[in-house]
Amino acid sequence: MKDSLANADLGAMGRKTMLHPVSSVADLARTGPTLYTRAKGTILEDAAGQEHIDMGAGLWCVNVGYGRPELVEAGAEALRNLSYQHHFGNSAAKDTVRLSERLVQLFAENAGAGHLNRVFYGTSGSDANDTAYKLVRYYNNLRGKPAKKKIISRIGSYHGLTAAATSLTGIDAYHKMFDLPLPDVLHTSCPHFYRYAENGESEAQFSARMVRDLENLIEREGPETIGAFIAEPVMGTGGVFLPPPGYFAKVQALLDKHDILLIADEVITGFGRLGHWFGTGAFDLKPDIVSLAKGLTSAYFPMSASMISDRVYDVLAAKSDETGAFMHGFTYSGHPVGSAIALANIDVIERENLVEQASEAGSYLLRALRQATADTPFVGDVRGMGLMIGIEYVADKATNTPFPEGTAPHKVVSKHAFDHGVLPRALPFLPVNSFSPPLNISREEMDEGVARFAHALEAAGPD
Ligand code: PLP
Repeated sequence: MKDSLANADLGAMGRKTMLHPVSSVADLARTGPTLYTRAKGTILEDAAGQEHIDMGAGLWCVNVGYGRPELVEAGAEALRNLSYQHHFGNSAAKDTVRLSERLVQLFAENAGAGHLNRVFYGTSGSDANDTAYKLVRYYNNLRGKPAKKKIISRIGSYHGLTAAATSLTGIDAYHKMFDLPLPDVLHTSCPHFYRYAENGESEAQFSARMVRDLENLIEREGPETIGAFIAEPVMGTGGVFLPPPGYFAKVQALLDKHDILLIADEVITGFGRLGHWFGTGAFDLKPDIVSLAKGLTSAYFPMSASMISDRVYDVLAAKSDETGAFMHGFTYSGHPVGSAIALANIDVIERENLVEQASEAGSYLLRALRQATADTPFVGDVRGMGLMIGIEYVADKATNTPFPEGTAPHKVVSKHAFDHGVLPRALPFLPVNSFSPPLNISREEMDEGVARFAHALEAAGPD
């Protein structure tokens, strides 16, 4: 009773005192926030005491599940030993040095990327992409190519919400309130076959057209003005879009031809989510910069890392005496507590074989969701890789007719899903619900989650 009174008070306070990220200001004022009080494994409990199967792992991030004593202990010990250490002026914390070595090794051994030998740290996926944005500029300034600065991203991509990252993000809804994107960011076609294939086009033809669109954009702008291309190996927030066959190999050849860097945004795909350690390895990418966050610490600590190639680093190193310090960094870059937690997190992923587990659980969940939705007339496509799965809704499955603008079937389903005790995410670009649970989700939890979701679909259905 005392607890629920306290929760009611907190709800009212939250309504009056907070401005939430990516939330309706009016809805918050009307209803107050949904309070969550505790979590264990894949189960989240709300303030009313209802349990929810968290099919999102928060925002695609709690890869090892909630409430892991190993991570809690590692963080507590780090807080006791060295609560804080900055990395400005060449200072360092021991665990951050260890983590860097471990990340370099993981990429070399598990992603065929022995060329990524330096790590720069931040606190969020967005700031990692801002680091990439600035590195592209610095690298080409140092090379005497000051015009080679534009970055090409893709429509439907999500790269975060700081000013540069918002610009890289390819979803208008995030741009229009803030007069973004910045003028040096361009967006090419969205390689989502299910929605954007033209009549009768095969996947191979579609893939070739996507690459042609990129090539045309590069030529139109002039390759001497294009510094980098940024891509999520599997696009997440846009709606879980897998690259069409051959796409990345052709893109890579095009980038190589025009001396354009590849930035792989692995903020979601890193640390096992795809059933591979990294999307870089899964798709045989050769990125010059890789953005990591989320699964790096399973979100137990806000931390990002940017993996940097020898090619980029060598230019910085060669000119360093001339240019002076690298004038970029954050108070919390390389935070020792985050580093200790990241190391413990990587230990758990390795010890429990969570990468293989994500692959097996992903196949199981994909199959179960396909079976459960086979007869739902408004489920158009169920797709995914590892534990990154999306369900796209259409007004008419037979003709693949999209729902009219302004309707949001996925939000209606999500609302019913919450009531039934399961949390898929409702995404902001296309009408898609995503499923990206912790990598150690059990069969029973998947079965129960799919059963609850099926009830939610029924409740949301046209009848
Ligand atoms: N990049 C990708 C691919 C993401 O999915 C996200 C967040 O969802 C970001 C970057 C931004 O990360 P953050 O919210 O930590 O700034």
